[in-house]
Amino acid sequence: MGIKLRHEIISTDVLIIGGGTAGCYAALTLCKNSKLKVVIAEKANIKRSGCLAAGVNAINAYIVEGRTPEDYVDYAIKDANGIVRKDLLLSVAKRFNEVTAQMEKLGLVILKDTDGNYVTRGNRNIKINGENFKPILAKAVRKGKNIEVFNNVNITDFMVNDNTIYGAIGFSIREEIAYEFRAKAVIVSTGGAAGLYKPNNPGTSRHKMWYPPFNTGAGYAMGIKAGAEMTSFEMRFIALRCKDTIAPTGTIAQGVQAKQINSLGEVYENNYGITTSERVYGTVKENQLGKGPCYLQTSAMDKVKEKDLLKAYLNMAPSQTLKWIESGKLPSEQDVEITGTEPYIVGGHTASGYWVNTNRETTIHGLYAGGDVTGGCPQKYVSGALAEGEIAALDIISKISEFAEIKENVAKESRKIVKEYEDILKSANALFTAEELEEAMQKVMDEYAGGISTNYQFNEKQLMLAEEKIDNLIQLSKNLSASDMHELMFVYELRERLLVCKSVIAHLYHRKETRWHSFNENLDYPQQRDEYFCYVNSKFENDKLKIIYRDIVKEAVYEHKN
Ligand SMILES: Cc1cc2nc3c(=O)[nH]c(=O)nc-3n(C[C@H](O)[C@H](O)[C@H](O)COP(=O)(O)OP(=O)(O)OC[C@H]3O[C@@H](n4cnc5c(N)ncnc54)[C@H](O)[C@@H]3O)c2cc1C
Repeated sequence: MGIKLRHEIISTDVLIIGGGTAGCYAALTLCKNSKLKVVIAEKANIKRSGCLAAGVNAINAYIVEGRTPEDYVDYAIKDANGIVRKDLLLSVAKRFNEVTAQMEKLGLVILKDTDGNYVTRGNRNIKINGENFKPILAKAVRKGKNIEVFNNVNITDFMVNDNTIYGAIGFSIREEIAYEFRAKAVIVSTGGAAGLYKPNNPGTSRHKMWYPPFNTGAGYAMGIKAGAEMTSFEMRFIALRCKDTIAPTGTIAQGVQAKQINSLGEVYENNYGITTSERVYGTVKENQLGKGPCYLQTSAMDKVKEKDLLKAYLNMAPSQTLKWIESGKLPSEQDVEITGTEPYIVGGHTASGYWVNTNRETTIHGLYAGGDVTGGCPQKYVSGALAEGEIAALDIISKISEFAEIKENVAKESRKIVKEYEDILKSANALFTAEELEEAMQKVMDEYAGGISTNYQFNEKQLMLAEEKIDNLIQLSKNLSASDMHELMFVYELRERLLVCKSVIAHLYHRKETRWHSFNENLDYPQQRDEYFCYVNSKFENDKLKIIYRDIVKEAVYEHKN
């Protein structure tokens, strides 16, 4: 049995890979400010894809009255213990309010008080009705004159030659079609990577995770394969969540000022610090000390706030509201048990991702990155992803004449990739399925690279074992087969995750200190070390990951130098 794919070639000015928050906003910016032809290739359907479909209820990054973009940058620098790019942070912080205003114009509901001011949550957040965010964005994109959207198209490889991008290749997950998208410039906005580590929930519930399971690190993997420089993969993100439902805790912590308490009722959050990673660390520690489970103290909250809380979760994570109702005890009658999730790689919350210049161009000429796939700029969230889409788009418009047209030798390479798809579809009786190898990968990462079962801790010996085992799985993944286009996507998703795992392990190994508790809890080096006040970057060269230590960027504008 074999499938011969139809090979379609689509030419455009700008290709956007991933039609999520950053990708859609980049397309709108290109459309508003230029006549360039834009193609979005999206593996799902832009109407309900990516993080925005996973449930948002606030603009987490907003400059509220009395605060400045510089205040926001200071907060993010402190939270990440200095390992950020100030130039990137400032450039998004200056745009948070403007992109939010644009979304409101498109129809996003932002909650207002009786005086017509936005309802704030803490010092940096404003409340929204998030359930329509993605459909509103998608509707505006669909109206864009020069924008063509290809839904259900999974991109697997960039077309790169001489460190310059010419487009990307992928396939439809519904029809037997391979797509070769040729473009002068490309924006990668495929989000972060979920599913690398064994998750909280077992069996069929295992995809009930904090980050969208469909964001598999494809953008990272394509960049790594093509030789792009990456940064800070060792700064993993572990979310503190409501146990089992994996619903967000911020709404409770900030919304009703609930404290983190242990099973003895002691408030423990101040004993460990209150940065994002320390809140997770404190919870892990209390459990290790035998004082678990840990909770957010909601009992005895007033009934008005309780009603708001039930509504907020119904809007954003309905399973949590259902859990309260099902248990017969509302949040004012029981505290909410909390737990850490498995680690993710996500540049919207931490600093991991592409190493970019201030205009979000990666180290590959003509390839830009926006949103969670982009490194150096943590705590940027939804408004930061919109802002990065805008920054990348505006830079492309200003430089479009500098970008090159495709060369024949690059097109030849793309035919090889299409043949690879057909070979996977042709081969039969593989020893393992992608799902089985995925489970093995998650177990390796959990046990040897600091997953939930080791309290996020690891040592160098374990990391070396993790690397060896992931390399074995990479070899096994070369022999997978697929009986249809959907299974072909699973094969590539697994391969992407494996490559990201390999990079994460290398980064964890080469930051020989513990800079962020839980996020990189290195038992061989349990303290912070001054010589590691630098970025740990990496680049794939001759089939090997090369580690590059870079000095902290102090300039207001950063350009790639080497
Ligand atoms: C559960 C959850 C709740 C959140 N809540 C909030 C909140 O309340 N407030 C806030 O400010 N921020 C919140 N965030 C963060 C915020 O939503 C994200 O940082 C932001 O939306 C990321 O945008 P993005 O464009 O980088 O990724 P996404 O919006 O996830 O877009 C990535 C897109 O790429 C597509 N894709 C992936 N791989 C491929 C491929 N190989 N080929 C083609 N397409 C591909 C995906 O399908 C997806 O559409 C939340 C995040 C999560 C996960």
